[in-house]
Amino acid sequence: MLKKTTVNQLSDLASALMEKGTLVAPVREDAGFQFREITDAKRVDLNFHNTVISPKSVFFPQTEDFVRYRTGRPMQEAEPVEPQGKPLILFGVRPCDVKSFEIMDIHFSGTGDVDPYWQARREAAAIIGYAFDLGAPAEPEEFYQTLGIGAADPEGSDIFMVRRGDDLLLKSITGKGEALLTGMGGLAGASADDEKFFDDTVAAGRDFKTRFTCVDAEVITKKLEDLFHNTDFWEKASNACLSCGVCTFACPTCYCFDICDETLFQQGTRRRVWDACMFTDFTLEASGHNPRTKVYQRLRQKINHKYSYHVRKYGVISCVGCGRCTRYCPVNIDIFSIVEEAMKA
Ligand code: SF4
Ligand code: SF4
Repeated sequence: MLKKTTVNQLSDLASALMEKGTLVAPVREDAGFQFREITDAKRVDLNFHNTVISPKSVFFPQTEDFVRYRTGRPMQEAEPVEPQGKPLILFGVRPCDVKSFEIMDIHFSGTGDVDPYWQARREAAAIIGYAFDLGAPAEPEEFYQTLGIGAADPEGSDIFMVRRGDDLLLKSITGKGEALLTGMGGLAGASADDEKFFDDTVAAGRDFKTRFTCVDAEVITKKLEDLFHNTDFWEKASNACLSCGVCTFACPTCYCFDICDETLFQQGTRRRVWDACMFTDFTLEASGHNPRTKVYQRLRQKINHKYSYHVRKYGVISCVGCGRCTRYCPVNIDIFSIVEEAMKA
């Protein structure tokens, strides 16, 4: 099913979606665009390239409470925080970020050990993907084409959205998307010409140019295995790194977390918080031993995890080429260049 509205009626579309569930959509903020829960439909803004933080935080928040308790009281009195599965619509997600959910599903629900918090949100969510603007060049940091992702790939979305001039075309991709579109007022039917434009855009998105280097998953895995003990290679790559962790927090496929207890005035909370392999104490053991004290060891871990260990264990590269890690790195460390160099080694 293909329906349409206009960009000028975006807030009407947002209002209609808010009647179906919690709407999370891009909004403009001082530091750039971010996905936020929408309370005012007029805040939804599609004049963005991509958000600063990836939409993973919708399913995997930066902090998440698991248990609340009072110190000194029996464990049976502790109150577990139930997973939230209320209907949610995630609107305006770029194709590379949609792809990241498939990779994250491996870890949070795909290996048999299901994370109920992730799964409840995923199952309750409808994803409305949004094609990149094929009339504008890709951002210099992006390289999703290298990972086989097109600029207008609808796969993984429940509804996929393409802009045609002042019109927004919305096509249902899954049954969930079809049900959502069917129940929404204020949308016009699309013409045969719109259908053709939508299909042409999806096809053109597959040829859309981002940075590209030929990366075969098996080949890069082997190359990185061979490079593991080449300290010169890793020191050169990590020389400027500040261990700030920005690259991992902005990344849609980084999922490391810590679980800690916080107590204040006898009130305790056990919560999950994002962690990052780029932090100095990420691997600090209780004995005081830290197997990755050097910056190069930590950057090597990050690259190997995404492009080598992940392929060996799950068969896919754990990177979607969104470019955020490069864009927001304060010292311009570029994962694409490191992978490109490794391929040449
Ligand atoms: S490693 Fe970088 S390019 Fe790859 S998904 Fe993460 S942020 Fe995007
Ligand atoms: S963002 Fe850059 S400086 Fe910060 S940890 Fe990542 S690679 Fe290092």
